[in-house]
Amino acid sequence: MNKNKRLPNDCFSLPRGITWTPVDQALEQLRKGLSTLTQSERVPVNYCVGRVLATTVYAIVNNPPFTNSAVDGYGFCGPAKGLGNRLELMPGVASAGNPFNGIVSQGSAVKVLTGAVLPDGVDTVFLKEDVESEGNNLISFTGPLKVGANTRSSGEDVKAGEKLFTAGHKIRPQDLALLIATGVAFVDVYSPLKVGILSTGNELLDDGLEYPYLEKKGKVFDSNRPMLLSLIKRWGFQGFDLGAIRDEKKLLRKKLNDASLQVDVIISSGGASSGDEDYVANLIKSEGKLENWRIAIKPGRPLALGLWNGTPIFGLPGNPVAAFVCALIFARPALGLLAGRGWVKPAGYNVMSAFDKTKKPGRREYLRARINEDGNAEIFSSEGSGRISSLSWSSGLLELFEHEEKVSEGQLVRYIPYSSFDL
Ligand code: AMP
Ligand code: MG
Repeated sequence: MNKNKRLPNDCFSLPRGITWTPVDQALEQLRKGLSTLTQSERVPVNYCVGRVLATTVYAIVNNPPFTNSAVDGYGFCGPAKGLGNRLELMPGVASAGNPFNGIVSQGSAVKVLTGAVLPDGVDTVFLKEDVESEGNNLISFTGPLKVGANTRSSGEDVKAGEKLFTAGHKIRPQDLALLIATGVAFVDVYSPLKVGILSTGNELLDDGLEYPYLEKKGKVFDSNRPMLLSLIKRWGFQGFDLGAIRDEKKLLRKKLNDASLQVDVIISSGGASSGDEDYVANLIKSEGKLENWRIAIKPGRPLALGLWNGTPIFGLPGNPVAAFVCALIFARPALGLLAGRGWVKPAGYNVMSAFDKTKKPGRREYLRARINEDGNAEIFSSEGSGRISSLSWSSGLLELFEHEEKVSEGQLVRYIPYSSFDL
């Protein structure tokens, strides 16, 4: 069981007197209220890709670890000026992993290959293609050539003791190359955040039932749970399938009790508003600690944020489009904080709009969008939040800000590709 650190009881409290919370304020509130829940562990460097560093990491050795040749050629002691320089070629060769044992004196040269330790006496290397052999162990070349040319000096990339990464960095494959090259053998990383995913609603089709039941009984497939579970996995957290449950207090209570012992955070979908049928919000309100966040956002206004036995719960709207958008905009950075990654902001780009649209001021809108052949942003034909197909059609979200009332073709708009959400 991994009940690590705890959040304070008021971590989701919003300032009083606000009816609709602007997105930025909601994000700021999450950022202030949440902190790392997971503990750190030491792992061999080869197992750290995708993990989040818990401490700053420093280089153990220089990269390159020794001065070496950057090319295949001839090493000698520089500088070499002018035309027609001749050098006596010493027998032997320095190659990668096989150093040359002798000393190269002034007026002499030795064959060196890429990656070879520079032999004693050598500080400069001529490219093989720029050298001519004159027979009798003589080579000639055309200068000038700067001292040190075609060599890579020890530590020119990174010096031992230099800072490589700070805590909170999520290790990528290319980071692994740097860690290995600089002699780092172990790193401290946070244990993966355990995230439980729960669906709620009487209309959800029980696992294993087939679609004849859909129309007859008013059932829908549970789209949210697999989608949210795979988002969680993609973001590097450990997903726990908490199943789909009916809107029944008793079932929900038991589920939350069990889950709060098993996971660090619970994400539920459905029943998150403040109506009578919103069982998740109502139960947490009466028996746990709940804040109903009414966020000025489309799609997906209600967000139920609470604590159940000290375990944070993010209650997302049931609508799959709204659940997806709210997961990207709110859950991703919040989970990042809980997991030790710090607050992650998705990178957005200003692109030209390929459409006209009017918009209600005062709320933020996220439209499903993609970039057309001209490099401009087009939006899905319908903004209906039941349009699950729009999620697959799109390659990102257009972020229309609160003050905006109208978007005209050719105007710059903010586009956040799904890749900025690690998707
Ligand atoms: P709710 O937020 O519970 O009021 O649900 C809003 C809409 O989303 C309703 O039409 C639900 O049927 C639908 N919905 C809720 N949960 C899911 C789910 N897991 N998968 C697909 N649709 C859902
Ligand atoms: Mg419901």
